[in-house]
Amino acid sequence: MRPEVLNPLFVETEVLDGVGPKMKKPLEKLGLSRVRDVIFHLPERFVTRRAVTTLDEAGEGEQIVVALTPTEHRAASGRGPYRVLAADDAGNICTLTYFGRASYTAKKLLPPGEKRWVAGRLDRYGDMLQIVHPDHVVAQSGDTLARLSEPVYALSEGLTQPRIAGLVAQSLARLPSLPEWIEPTQLAKEGWPEWADALKLSHKNENEAARNRLAYDELLANSLALLLVRADNRARKGQPLKGDGGLRAKLQLPFPLTGAQKRSISEIEGDLQQEAPMLRLLQGDVGAGKTVVALEAMLIAVEAGAQAALLAPTEILARQHFETLRAMATPTGVQVALLTGRDKGKARQSILMGILDGSIDMVVGTHAIFQDAVNYRNLGLVVIDEQHRFGVAQRLMLSSKGKRTPHTLAMTATPIPRTLTLAQYGEMDVSRLDEMPPGRQAIDTRVVAQDRLGDVVEAVARHVASGQQAYWVCPMVRDNENDDIAAAEARYAGLHERFGEDVVLVHGQLKPDMKDAAMERFASGAAKLLVATTVIEVGVDVPASTLMVIEQAERFGLAQLHQLRGRVGRGSEKSTCLLLRGPTLSETARQRLALMRETQDGFLLAEEDLRLRGGGELLGTRQSGDTPFRLATLDQITRLLPMAHDDARLLMERDGGLTGPRGEAARILLYLFERDWGVQMLRGG
Ligand code: ADP
Ligand code: MG
Repeated sequence: MRPEVLNPLFVETEVLDGVGPKMKKPLEKLGLSRVRDVIFHLPERFVTRRAVTTLDEAGEGEQIVVALTPTEHRAASGRGPYRVLAADDAGNICTLTYFGRASYTAKKLLPPGEKRWVAGRLDRYGDMLQIVHPDHVVAQSGDTLARLSEPVYALSEGLTQPRIAGLVAQSLARLPSLPEWIEPTQLAKEGWPEWADALKLSHKNENEAARNRLAYDELLANSLALLLVRADNRARKGQPLKGDGGLRAKLQLPFPLTGAQKRSISEIEGDLQQEAPMLRLLQGDVGAGKTVVALEAMLIAVEAGAQAALLAPTEILARQHFETLRAMATPTGVQVALLTGRDKGKARQSILMGILDGSIDMVVGTHAIFQDAVNYRNLGLVVIDEQHRFGVAQRLMLSSKGKRTPHTLAMTATPIPRTLTLAQYGEMDVSRLDEMPPGRQAIDTRVVAQDRLGDVVEAVARHVASGQQAYWVCPMVRDNENDDIAAAEARYAGLHERFGEDVVLVHGQLKPDMKDAAMERFASGAAKLLVATTVIEVGVDVPASTLMVIEQAERFGLAQLHQLRGRVGRGSEKSTCLLLRGPTLSETARQRLALMRETQDGFLLAEEDLRLRGGGELLGTRQSGDTPFRLATLDQITRLLPMAHDDARLLMERDGGLTGPRGEAARILLYLFERDWGVQMLRGG
């Protein structure tokens, strides 16, 4: 249960003045649903302004405060903005531009002939000077405005800076007083403020110590939770699985294993023999050959008389893994079954029976394989593919199956920068497949302007005519998934005219059986071109597909592009990836696409991706998904994580049950950062 002292922070934003159903939506878009989220919505930066007497003194793009006298109001024509022309003391004219409903404010605030102090960013529009939506328009005291350092928050449509600032102020007024979870000596050494002060300071102006303290809190919570999971896992009883090699000897793999595969298998083999359940991550770039490592691990479990389950994030992947594993396992005589949420009735019953009586050795499926109705005779090993789709919390749910905790092997193809591995997987041991199977050719990657779409279609046509297959990826970019699907459907319709039944479409909202049918036609080679939204990102393996087109490639992150591109270059044929880009590219986007052309090393791309994105942000908070953190920036993670991890370890060693005063404070910290799955670990032991 969450400590009561935190309750004021975990209430919905509706308790704040001015938040009703209408305001909730834009707030939720920013991930702000509770008061806690609002206080953690730290400013992206601060603006400070310079007071100038005439516009000549100001540079373009500069934040200024200047005295202006409105001379003329020009009503909006059509969808254009509302403009107010205003003159400075030297007679220079500047346009104050207002879009949409903001024009009402303009009419009120800027009566012609009356001098006003205007604060905002001076820009040039054609040969006119203009300020779009001035931050402030007041009758006096331009100096006060110039001295103000104001926060600039990330916004979503329907929100303004003053609105957010108001909500933050209200939320800060509700801060409870919390016990300190950082050692006093460390606080003093770093010169960090107390928690509540750190929050207030962080919203007020640029304050590195305050921001560092908040980042540290988050990192500490994360490390502590991971260590609690690890300690809990160590204390659990699993079953030692020692295979006799009998089944593995019967495998007839068409290739020798790579050194990295052999090493990983032997690391897993060593773990499985222990009584403490394995908690191991198999990290390997797309195409590195994780599946066969999983199969060997599962065979060890079966040799030792236990069952093994493989959990995939989607139906498509589950099906594909099932086909692959069943085919590879055929010579061993091991029984493999597929179980997804879609299996119903008699077929399902018979699979459930087989799992219960042990006639089924290996189960492949989606999370359906862990539903209450599924009872295993003796589940010894759980393999989780594409680890990142499952949080630690779900992972814990799995370990509650059965009296003895099964061993866990998690697999991920998401290349994670080294700095983040500890943060993300601190509770696991890691095996890395850092060697690609031999014979892979580099994927010829090219950046092509979107307006050459016609040429691209012809290239696809030639490719298909030569008997090869291709993927065509439409991005998920808009706010609305339906729009994206509509875009993919439109593209499909266009390509269908050209390619007829050779082209199939797959997206997230297709009926499962239609999706399967389309995938199947493509995998079997009956269809030549697969048009998809990013659902094909993970795992799909069709080695005969050697061309990939990615539309609006600049909208994807590097890591994601890399995952997508990894769908080709899987066979021995030479593969090509065409990255279609829009007409305007930011400098960062240009660099990212150039990097994609230059390297195929997923881990390098991940490092660079973070560097390129991190570089532009001084104080910027991160979007969820990039890292497991909301407050800590990449730079802070690099600097502060080792310290936080050590601190967490000390705390665990001294107070593993988190019972002393500092332990109690640490529990509050875990709940504050919603790492309470870590606290749950404390119950059992
Ligand atoms: P991933 O790590 O992305 O899951 P897969 O397990 O799907 O990779 O393997 C990618 C492809 O490489 C598959 O077609 C697989 O059969 C093949 N493969 C795996 N290991 C080797 C190897 N040692 N030598 C040659 N090919 C291999
Ligand atoms: Mg895979």
